[in-house]
Parts: sequence; structure tokens; C-alpha cells
Amino acid sequence: MTDTIKDFHSMDHEILFERAKGYAFDYLQNVNDRNVYPDERALEGLKMFDEPLAEKPGDAEKILGMLHDYGSPATVATTGGRYFGLVVGSSFAPVMAVKWLADVWDQLAPLYVTSPIMAKLESVCEVWMNDLLGLPSDCAMGLVSGTSMATMAGFAAARYELLRRAGWDVNTKGLFGATPIRVVVGAEAHSSVFKALAILGLGRERVELVPADEQGRMRADQLPSLDGNTLLILQAGNVNSGSFDPIDELCDAANKAGAWVHVDGAFGLWAAASANKKYLTKGIEKADSWSVDGHKTLNTPYDCGIVICKDRKAMITAMQASGDYILYSDQRDGMLYSPDMSRRGRAVELWATLKLLGKGGVEELVDGLCERASQFAKEIKAEGFNVLNDVVFNQVLVTCDSAEETMATLRHLQQSGECWCGSGKWHGIPVIRVSVCSWATTEEDISRTVRAFVKVRN
Ligand SMILES: *Cc1c(COP(=O)(O)O)cnc(C)c1O
Repeated sequence: MTDTIKDFHSMDHEILFERAKGYAFDYLQNVNDRNVYPDERALEGLKMFDEPLAEKPGDAEKILGMLHDYGSPATVATTGGRYFGLVVGSSFAPVMAVKWLADVWDQLAPLYVTSPIMAKLESVCEVWMNDLLGLPSDCAMGLVSGTSMATMAGFAAARYELLRRAGWDVNTKGLFGATPIRVVVGAEAHSSVFKALAILGLGRERVELVPADEQGRMRADQLPSLDGNTLLILQAGNVNSGSFDPIDELCDAANKAGAWVHVDGAFGLWAAASANKKYLTKGIEKADSWSVDGHKTLNTPYDCGIVICKDRKAMITAMQASGDYILYSDQRDGMLYSPDMSRRGRAVELWATLKLLGKGGVEELVDGLCERASQFAKEIKAEGFNVLNDVVFNQVLVTCDSAEETMATLRHLQQSGECWCGSGKWHGIPVIRVSVCSWATTEEDISRTVRAFVKVRN
């Protein structure tokens, strides 16, 4: 028993960590056989957590045991092979092991002086990311929580730089009184793009929307004429169809006009790392900033958003509290590239995943997800379902013959525990969204999922 936190000094750490290890192995071993979504009993068990905050310190082994007994069954099995819900990946066990070690370090990563190792890993990742994605080698990279924040950071750099060119320092003067920035965005842009615009005072409704084609790609022939005061927002990977805007052509038009191009490539930017899929991201190096997630296609653990910006100075200045004061350092100070100050050492999982996979492994990963998405599309069509999109990447949009049938099938599918898919709307009709995003998904997982669709179809 522990009566005061002083007792924590004499606690047997080894027993605790061994126990955590046992629970974790137990979880990993069973995750592919259990229900993908927690069953009723597991959800019922969550009531155990409804208790008043205790007066005294608790028992460490019991806390861990409670989390395993009632928490583990109530997780969604995203690390298994049959979670196709949001476009999110699994994680590799060797990277989880690395993360465990780094979790014990509990590093604070805003500055070199707060954690030299995290600063080093961040700068290594910056070089590797530019290389892997075929971006100019001196682009700046910042690590944030996800693509939503990465997009916001990219827009902040754009906002700063476009206004600076117009003779206005947005950091000191704010937006009021500044020359309005034009924002040109595709009709099919992700909701996080509009959220970032709203937060930054660029407004979600004053944008110039460019119509999309039937796959959700921005129509280059409908692009308004651009100028040097414009932020053009492109998409590499439509969250429903997986389609890519014609980036090359759009970047050329933007570059000619001196506009700033940001590419939201949350899961799709990784196409650039595959010889087979690179045609989808052709021309991305001509953009000015990019946002991408490690925790989607790359299968890093969560909390791995990445912003990359060609103009290092714009990025660093936009992330500063004061105007043109830049804390140059000959070492890496991660907070200069992110809105955060105190933050955990995110770089470690990105570094470990890239080091584990190498360029060949990333390519195999990307190609494998695309192949299994194609396999799914082929097998599900053969069973009489409709596939509404061209499967160019890892997304498949499935319907039955009526909206009611589609929704009933999805509901039964989610209840079956065999797999988990989400819903969406595509051209106004409800669809079942299948995102093949986990390295752990095998060909058999795909066939088993197709069988589950057939079984629950009304
Ligand atoms: C997932 C996603 C986002 C948001 O990313 P988060 O990491 O969840 O913040 C933005 N854009 C697209 C295209 C996405 O798929």
C-alpha cells in the first residue's frame, strides 16, 4: 500500500514494468482475433471508471490491472488488420518498443537545451523527409500533433510571408487593416483546411472555391487567375475517394503568379515515396508548404503531424510570438517550427519508423496498401457491390443498390466485430468508406472483410 507519494521511491518498478509488458504482449497477441470494435460487454465494463477521485494515493499494480481488465477490451483494434475506418494506420511493434523507452525518458522537446537527443532526431527527420518525398533539401520541418495543426502552421507561414511581401507585419499588427489575402481552395478540401482558415482569421466562407471533378479533384480549367496575394490550397489524397488534385499544373499556374501553394497531403503525400504511385504527386516540389501525417500511411503511432515549409524564415517567424526576432541557433530548437512550446519528443517515433523501413520499406508499405485496396475493390465488385471511385490509392467507396441497404449493411458490419468501416457522403449519397491504411492488413484480411460484407448484406 502507498499512503504518501514518498512511498513511490521504494516501489518495485521492475514488477510494474514486467506486468505492463505482460499485458501489452497479451493485447498484441489477441488484437487480430478479437472484435475490431468493442462488444457490448466491453463497453459495459467502462462503468468501472466512474468513481470519485480517491482521497489517498492508489495502488500502482491495481491501477495498471484495472486499465488492462476494463480498458484493453474497450479499445478499437486499430493495430490489427481489419480496421478500415478513418484513414489511420497501425504501428510497428519495433517502433512501439522504441516509444516505450522514450516514454520513460519523458523528454521535453522545445529546445536543444531541454533535450539534445530529441533535437538531433528532429533534424535528422527533417533531412530524411525532404529526401524521401523528393522536396528541396533545405525545406524546414516542424512536428505537431496531426495534419490539422500542420496545415494551420503552413497557413500561418503563408499568411506571414504574403503580407510581409505586401509591406505588412502580421505578427505585430494583426490582420485588421492588412491587404486581404485571397484564399483559393478546392470544393472537396478536407474540413480541417476550413477550420485552420477560420482559426487564422482567413475565414471559411470568403474563400474562392474551385469546383471539383467527379473524382473530387480540383478542376484546373476552373482555377481563377491568381496573384501574388493568394494562398492556393491543394490536396494530395481526397479523404473519400483518395484522388489527387492535378498538382503539377496548378503549381505552375501559382508559381507564375507568385501565389503561395500549400498541399494538404495528410495520407496521400506518401505517394511521393513510391516509384509506382509518384505520378499522383507529380510537381509537389513546386509548392511552398505541405502537411502530412506520420500516423496515417506511414503507420507511426499517433501524434505525428508534420509540416514542411520551403521558406524556413517565414515558418520560423510565423511561429514566433514577436515580429522579426528570430532565435537563431546552431542547434535545432523544435519550438521554432511549431505552435507549441512544451511538447513531448515526437521525433522519436518518426525517426524509428523511417529507420526501420528505409526507403524500400516505405515504398513497399505504400504499394502494399494500394494493392490491397485494389484487391478489396475487385473482390467486393465481384460480389455485386458498387465501387464509386477510381481506386488510385488506398480508398474505396462502396454502396449497395439503395441508400437504405448501404446504411443497413454498414450498421450490421460494424456490429459484426469482423471489421470496422465508416460512412461518408459521396456526390450526395451515403457510402461505406474503406481506408486500407494498416501495414498489418493481409490479403486474407481483405478477403475475410469481403466475406463479412456479403454475410451482413440485407
Ligand atoms: C486526416 C486528414 C486530415 C486531418 O489530419 P489529423 O492528423 O487528423 O489532424 C486533414 N486532411 C486530410 C486529407 C486527412 O485525411
